[in-house]
Amino acid sequence: SINDNNPVKNWDEKRQQWLKSHPNLGGASDSKRPRILLVTGSQSSACANPVGDHLLLRLFKNKVDYCRLHGIEIFYNNVLLHPKMFGFWAKYPVVKAAMLAHPEVEWIWWVDSDAVFTDMEFKLPLERYDKHNLVVHGWSHAIYEEKSWTGLNAGVLLIRNCQWSMDLIDEWARMGPQSPDYEKWGRTQKLVFKDKLYPESDDQSGLIYLLLKDKKKWGDKIYLEGDYNLEGYWLGMVGGLDNITKGYEEIERRVAVLRRRHAEKVSEFYGEKREEYLKDVIRRPFVIHFTGCEPCTGDHNPVYTWEACWNGMQRALNFADNQVLRGFGFAHPDLLDSSRVSPLPFDFPRIG
Ligand code: UDP
Ligand code: MN
Repeated sequence: SINDNNPVKNWDEKRQQWLKSHPNLGGASDSKRPRILLVTGSQSSACANPVGDHLLLRLFKNKVDYCRLHGIEIFYNNVLLHPKMFGFWAKYPVVKAAMLAHPEVEWIWWVDSDAVFTDMEFKLPLERYDKHNLVVHGWSHAIYEEKSWTGLNAGVLLIRNCQWSMDLIDEWARMGPQSPDYEKWGRTQKLVFKDKLYPESDDQSGLIYLLLKDKKKWGDKIYLEGDYNLEGYWLGMVGGLDNITKGYEEIERRVAVLRRRHAEKVSEFYGEKREEYLKDVIRRPFVIHFTGCEPCTGDHNPVYTWEACWNGMQRALNFADNQVLRGFGFAHPDLLDSSRVSPLPFDFPRIG
């Protein structure tokens, strides 16, 4: 596993003790909402793709914007905490270390560098996950019946800061490249998951394997979120963003009409109305994940072009940025034009 010589033990008790001795930092004591630390990262060296570092900066800016708007702390890691756990395996030692470094947070939220927040308003429905320790975007029929390696996505995970999570990560990481059984696990995964693309053991197949093998031990505490896009595959999503923008603009027009008619009413009224109007439009996806685009290396999946990835990322990033910029009074009129903005005249605080 990641650190066989020094596994974390009794973390729940140790964390409770720490919380008691630091009452001002305690998760539940000073706020009703459990604390979250968003963790993301990238490789330590410059990207091989000439625009890779530029994209990583924009992808990071997007996460910082979301976190600022929601009072979430963020940690960016760009070193391999285990020298052999590269690529998507790199996140496990980081997530584990983040739990130790931040006993005050209840949840660690790993978000891949290539995932974009495309709804700056949406909040995680944490109450829903009270009885669970890990939340991933997934579909139980695709896991248990189809046995597909894409039955869930491991690029965005919400994982509780507890001993169960430490144990899960240790068991999960046994399938990683630092393990003497790495090649064996690759063969096993390829046999179990007929649609798996490559022979090397990967973390996503690894988690599904654990679910299939020991549903009681792991599955009961893993929430497969399918109600909203905890992450969503970019290819089918980026084309719809212009339409979604139109829907939301229509709502803003309707709210503005109300504002003129009822100038004396308090702003919550508009918030309520806006929520009501939103039922009529296609909602923004929460997170769009550019799986397979590999913005940093440029080694994208050959079934689509780099141009498709690039344009998709521009659209998603500018779509998200528009939600941030409008509060400042500006917007990108063209989602494909990242440098141009137009002013939006207004003199009242924006709702949503
Ligand atoms: N990553 C990292 N350090 C590395 C390489 C990758 O932290 O040295 C992270 C990065 O956030 C990246 C994630 O691991 O987004 C998973 O890789 P990727 O997104 O390329 O996989 P995909 O989603 O395309 O399967
Ligand atoms: Mn990814």
